[in-house]
This record gives sequence, C-alpha cells and structure tokens, in this order.
Amino acid sequence: MSVHYDLHSHSLASDGSLSPAELVAAAHAGGVDVLALTDHDTTDGLAEAAHSACQLGLQLVPGVEISVSWQAQTIHVLGLGVDPACDELQTGLSGLREFRNWRAEEIGRRLARAGFPGCYEGARRLARGNIVGRTHFARHLVAEGHAPSARHVFKRFLVNNKPGYVTGDWASLEDALSWIDRAGGLAVVAHPARYRMTASKLRRLLYEFRECGGAGMEVISGSHTRDNINTMAALCRNQDMLASCGSDYHGPENPWIKLGQLPPLPAGCPPVWENERWPATVSTA
Ligand code: AMP
Ligand code: MN
Ligand code: MN
Ligand code: MN
Repeated sequence: MSVHYDLHSHSLASDGSLSPAELVAAAHAGGVDVLALTDHDTTDGLAEAAHSACQLGLQLVPGVEISVSWQAQTIHVLGLGVDPACDELQTGLSGLREFRNWRAEEIGRRLARAGFPGCYEGARRLARGNIVGRTHFARHLVAEGHAPSARHVFKRFLVNNKPGYVTGDWASLEDALSWIDRAGGLAVVAHPARYRMTASKLRRLLYEFRECGGAGMEVISGSHTRDNINTMAALCRNQDMLASCGSDYHGPENPWIKLGQLPPLPAGCPPVWENERWPATVSTA
C-alpha cells in the first residue's frame, strides 16, 4: 500500500482555521499518513500537533514556512524536519514575526485611510493571539460584508499597488536556508508556480536556492494546476531538485483543497522523503 504524504499545511498558529490537533485529526481522517505542519514563520503549533499525531498513529514532520524576500518578491521556503528547539531558527523566526506585527498595524492604518477603520483590531481578534497575517484581514473584511470572499479582498486591497499592501521585508534566501540547515531540516521552495515569474527568473531562483544548500521544490501543490505540475516536474528534473508534495491546506473554508487527495509525483521526480538527507527527526513523539 502506498504511503500518503502531505508536506505543507497550516493551523491556527498562523493563518489556518483549525487547531493543530483538529488539523492532524482531519488529515488522518482524509487518509494522510505523513503530514508536515508548516505554519508561516512560527513553530508554535508543533507540540500540540505532535501529541495528537502520536495518539492517532500519524507521522508528523515538524515544519515551518519561512517568508523570504528575493529580488523584490516574496517567496516561501518550507523547512521540513526542523528541530523547533534550534536557537538560530527561533531567533530568525522571531525577527520575522516582529516585522509581521509592525506590518499588521501598518496594513490597518492604510485600510483606515482607504475608508475601512478597525481592520487591525478585527484581524487581531481573528488571529486569537497568534501571528496576524493578511488572511486575517481578508476574513475580517469578508465578515464585515465588504467583499464576498477572501480572494476578492486580496485582489482589491492586499496585493501590490492596492490600498492595504505593505512591501515585504522578510528573510534573505541565505539566512532562511541557514536557519533551516542549523535546525537539521531540508529546505523546499513552496508552490513555485505561484510567483508569476518568467521561466528564466524561476530557473535563477532554483539555481540560487540549490547554491545556498536548498534541496527541493514542490512539484505537487494544492495551488498548482495540471499544467503547473507538468512545468514544475520538468524544472525539477532539469535543475536536479528533489520533489515535494503538499496541499497548503488552510482549513475547510477552502473546499477546493482537501486533505489526502494529492496526485502522485510525476515519474522522474525524486521524492524528498527518499533522499538520504530526509531528516531523522521525523517523529510521532
Ligand atoms: P502573509 O504571509 O500574511 O503575507 O499572507 C500570505 C497568505 O495569504 C498565503 O499563505 C495565503 O494563505 C493567503 N493568500 C495569498 N494570496 C491569496 C489570495 N489571492 N486569495 C486568498 N488567500 C491568499
Ligand atoms: Mn497562508
Ligand atoms: Mn505560501
Ligand atoms: Mn502555505
């Protein structure tokens, strides 16, 4: 019987809508055997997820999704199998969360100037003491009736050149990869087809990523179309990358992304989990 891997997911610790325990239970119910919890810039959900995974007999890969600024763009790098006790990793992540805190207030100020006061407070309430991301602003504006869906809010308010957009000032690629390395993890470029880069820029990113010690890329992602998968599979083979797969699940409010429904990796793409560097820290403990 084949093992079902899902190496990218979110909980309430960042912008997912399920608690870590609920997420693990939903993954288990969906048929996932190995799940990575990869919250944005935090490992806060990992202890609860590991506890619940242990009870259900699911393997939990401790992970994180790090926000990176590269050539004036934000890209996301997954650290898989990271040790959350690693000081370098935690110091790095806390710097990113500091920027997030400032950015959340700044988004609030900008939205207020655009005629939507109270968004910072609303987003903070939804984040329940955890990091405040753009998703929380989107959920707040939808709940207030200003837009029909989070997708609409992003398009109208939260992306480049829109009133609530604040330019990212995230980690450098070198720093993010060194934190992941120090924490014993494997680094993977998240959802590479999402960056709207030219093919040559994406190849440059993957090349630099490999040069800095990065290991792989998501070929299968919940946000990749069939065409994206084929293009990414070709890049993965040509650039000598390991291949990963993850749903990028954020919760049941996005019904088009389901846990346990990922297609298999295309032929010729070497799975990250079959590599000798696949972390030994993967555990059910
Ligand atoms: P942040 O890291 O706070 O800037 O927010 C990035 C997150 O926003 C992503 O991980 C997604 O969860 C969400 N997101 C980004 N773009 C969109 C979009 N167009 N529609 C809905 N959610 C989005
Ligand atoms: Mn997210
Ligand atoms: Mn992402
Ligand atoms: Mn994600």
